[in-house]
Amino acid sequence: MNPKIFFTPGPAAIYPTVAQHTQVAFAEQIPSISHRSKAFQAIYQQTYENIREIFQLPDDYAVLFTGSATEVWERLLQNCVAQETFHLVNGSFSRRFYDFALLLNKMPHLHEVVWGQGFDVSQIDIPGNVEMICVTHNETSTGVSMPVADIHALKDRYPNKLLVVDMVSSAPIPALDFTKVDAAYFSVQKAFGLPAGLGVWLVNRRCLEKAQRLESQGQITGTYHRLTNLWKSFEKFQTPPTPNVLGIYLLSKVTQDLLNKGIRQMREETQQKADLLYKAVDTIEGLDIFVQNPAHRSEVVVVANTQGNAAELIQKVANQNMVIGSGYGKNKTSQIRIANFPATSLGEVEQLVEILKKTVLLN
Ligand SMILES: *Cc1c(COP(=O)(O)O)cnc(C)c1O
Repeated sequence: MNPKIFFTPGPAAIYPTVAQHTQVAFAEQIPSISHRSKAFQAIYQQTYENIREIFQLPDDYAVLFTGSATEVWERLLQNCVAQETFHLVNGSFSRRFYDFALLLNKMPHLHEVVWGQGFDVSQIDIPGNVEMICVTHNETSTGVSMPVADIHALKDRYPNKLLVVDMVSSAPIPALDFTKVDAAYFSVQKAFGLPAGLGVWLVNRRCLEKAQRLESQGQITGTYHRLTNLWKSFEKFQTPPTPNVLGIYLLSKVTQDLLNKGIRQMREETQQKADLLYKAVDTIEGLDIFVQNPAHRSEVVVVANTQGNAAELIQKVANQNMVIGSGYGKNKTSQIRIANFPATSLGEVEQLVEILKKTVLLN
């Protein structure tokens, strides 16, 4: 059987070293160790140090583990907001965060643009009472990315508000300046190329202090995964409940592999592969780039409109052992989404482009 190559935006292609790390993990009986042991603390600490280096995290940042990135939306709303949030929405994921704010009885403000568009931050006006600004670096449903300079500009304009960044499907690619961000979060099954089942929450002391203040005022901030409790455990490199120890171990190994390869190198390769994919989509007859503004095109999730039926195209490409993603939601039959994560090589992207060239013609 020929192995398939996955270009899906999550779950995604598994980073090439993960199978080997998993074998070692079982040989070393990692899944059986206690999460209160020194061995686990060492794994957590190593993961923290690697993530800190990759993202150049300031000293006042903690790295916390949750069940998923979806969980972090709830945690941020419960722990860092008394009343008002502000959401930049341009697709399904950014919208879901807003919906959670409504469900938790916050007063979320909505700044929404149509799918396929990004934001003109100079046009955004955020009311004074807003406590937390919520942005999505990479809107996976539409392939729209928010330039990091725009994210930083928001912080420059609103330094007293918490700024939190969904980088679920793009971490570790964007070079965010974490002195201009208060929290960011991701899941491991996207650009890190790991099996699903772990959310990672990078969060600074300002967020912790906000949670402490809210608790002292009587706000319910959650139970086992409330921020104050997660942070207290983090200080001992422990977690409140039994965590996904294998997932954390694998994250420690893959982050190490990425550091050994070089973060700049990884980012350059991503850019190179993205250029190739956009050029292909632009030139292949029957495909069109969905995101009009080049500055808002995601490097890691390339979305194309298809002239023919997208589901049929995806099937024909799958018959050649290449798995590409379908359009999201209402765009399921009219778009394809191609993930460009570090797990797939330049050679594999070139192979995909060749297959697309032949296949779209016949679709
Ligand atoms: C996938 C995704 C999420 C949710 O991640 P889960 O791992 O399913 O919790 C949130 N935001 C974005 C942008 C995503 O792509």
